[in-house]
Amino acid sequence: MKYGRTFNFSAGPAMMPEPVLEEIRDEMMNYRGSGMCVMEMSHRSKVYQQIIDEAEQDLRDLMNIPSNYKVLFIQGGATLQFSMIPMNLMKNGKAVYIETGAWSNKAIKEAKKVGEVIVAASSKDKNYTYIPDCSDLDIPEDTDYVYICENETIHGTTWNKLPNTKGHVLVSDQSSMFLSKPCNVSDYGLIYAGVQKNVGPAGMVVVIIREDLIRDDLTDLPIYLQYKTHADNGSMYNTPNCWAIYCCGKVFKYLKSLGGLEAMHRMNLDKAKVFYDFLDSSKMFRGTVEKDVRSLMNIPFVTDSAELDAEVVAATKAAGYDNLKGHKSVGGLRASVYNAMPKEGVEALVKFLKDFEANHS
Ligand SMILES: *Cc1c(COP(=O)(O)O)cnc(C)c1O
Repeated sequence: MKYGRTFNFSAGPAMMPEPVLEEIRDEMMNYRGSGMCVMEMSHRSKVYQQIIDEAEQDLRDLMNIPSNYKVLFIQGGATLQFSMIPMNLMKNGKAVYIETGAWSNKAIKEAKKVGEVIVAASSKDKNYTYIPDCSDLDIPEDTDYVYICENETIHGTTWNKLPNTKGHVLVSDQSSMFLSKPCNVSDYGLIYAGVQKNVGPAGMVVVIIREDLIRDDLTDLPIYLQYKTHADNGSMYNTPNCWAIYCCGKVFKYLKSLGGLEAMHRMNLDKAKVFYDFLDSSKMFRGTVEKDVRSLMNIPFVTDSAELDAEVVAATKAAGYDNLKGHKSVGGLRASVYNAMPKEGVEALVKFLKDFEANHS
């Protein structure tokens, strides 16, 4: 690694691609002859308008976003969407949620403050280690939407097959898998992703919403919480997170240059396989979730004892592999291997863990 950087396995904020960081560094003091840094720039300037327009267009190209979907850059992270979604989409005051872990749970809690929440399926009985069968859910006719967290960052499960919503709008939290593989946007009514997992700096969420879901009858809702406000003003009703938009735009371009989301998917499958093959052959370490729903991005794993887990975390950190401690609600270890984690990082960590195991027994 250059610059003395570490392989950072954090769940988020997480690694960004090195070529992108270098470009940002090169443009830091004077962005393309503007005489200023993007941080110092008016969001109403021509030069900034071009930055946000290009970011949106590059994202549209990457994901093949149909023209009847709006792309919004909103502040408040992914968490604010736990509230904005029910506030904007609950017309009948009723939604179906699938409970698959910590993040869908948080969304459920917030939605309950707004309307009726039907938890139609849950994997809580086995500590969120699988994705429940959602091929034939009991969905009331007047349900406004069906909600999933498509990759549970903490528990390490992912949806390989979307739920059968029986014609209802699908809403998905893609925060920790955004742009990790191709996505058929028209399967969804709304997709959102906090960008600090797989794209850029924290403090912003990308919302991709089908236009007909943007309502103009919500005048009692605080103006900032209405999707309409952001859609009508090109994500610039107020000062947006200019810096995050700029950095994300660079990452979008970089992913395009690598061959887009098919290429990312191939690389991510390849990278995750290195780690999962190791876990499957190890006698000391094992993965914690069912094989068919293992996340390509977040890999939780354990030894047989919490003491040994802690020992491994300390040893990896000392060796330059950072942030491998599992989330406090789950324990053990977790390696997050987002788009920007190089394969060499995964291979090096696996080698380290193999050696640790060999020296231990
Ligand atoms: C991190 C995360 C969030 C919360 O993101 P913030 O930007 O911190 O609000 C929500 N959902 C998922 C799946 C996440 O991984």
